[in-house]
Amino acid sequence: MKIIMAEHAGFCFGVKRAVDAIEKALKSSSEVWTIGLPIHNPQEVSRLEAMGLRVADNEREIPDGSEILIRAHGEPLSVIKNLQARNIKVQDMTCPFVKKAQDMAENLSRGNYFIILLGDKKHPEIKGILGHVVDENNAEVVADENEAENVAYHAKIALISQTTQREEKLSNVAGILTQKCSELHVCNTICKATAERQDAVKELVKNNKIDGVVLIGGKTSANTGKLRDVIKSQNNKIEVLWVEDENEIESNLDWFKNKNLIGIAAGASTPAWLIDKIKSNIAEIGGMGN
Ligand code: SF4
Repeated sequence: MKIIMAEHAGFCFGVKRAVDAIEKALKSSSEVWTIGLPIHNPQEVSRLEAMGLRVADNEREIPDGSEILIRAHGEPLSVIKNLQARNIKVQDMTCPFVKKAQDMAENLSRGNYFIILLGDKKHPEIKGILGHVVDENNAEVVADENEAENVAYHAKIALISQTTQREEKLSNVAGILTQKCSELHVCNTICKATAERQDAVKELVKNNKIDGVVLIGGKTSANTGKLRDVIKSQNNKIEVLWVEDENEIESNLDWFKNKNLIGIAAGASTPAWLIDKIKSNIAEIGGMGN
């Protein structure tokens, strides 16, 4: 059995940067906090928790005087200020691409633009960007073209995107908003990491000889789920085995029977050590003649 890897798989730049910073901080402190999971991968979170990571549900759970690392999604400005006021040491590891969107939201709202954020209003990244708008009454989150149609008229609108949106949707929404204002400022804050991973799985399944794809990532990871959708939209017949860890390879040995060529893909929150482990497990199965 042969294996081919998707060209882009695993940690994106922003997540790797934040995880590296957590590891480094835990070398000099016995305990470092984050608000919310730093990464949607249970195996990686367990590894970091064993080193001393503490995950809080909200800022109030973090003890005064402790140390916190702001994850790649970022936080609203008010949260960072509240933490600093409580003498909590804050290391801001907001991904630079997300920071750019936050800075644009702050600066353009100061310039009297009404801010439209394209994205998921429940997502922490959108909550963090919204928390940088000077007056949140002058901002609205739209999920798609339908919601953009309902935006009221404003003299000046700035459109800012969640980093994981697709270019096509941003451009459709921009087209709709031109009818809703006299001046439209469009900020393309989309990060290429998501598109690169999706394009890489498209390339993978273009290979007609592939018998199935092993997709590695947390079951709650939205970007991993999206990769499965992309595979299925390209070729509905292709079998996808979505696994979180090597145990799921062991419990699905039958899936590998009669397969000669396996593709491997992984979401942006899957660590390299886990991909390597699963890859060598699959190679062993292949060596056993399955
Ligand atoms: S997906 Fe892009 S914006 Fe988001 S953390 Fe990764 S590199 Fe940063």
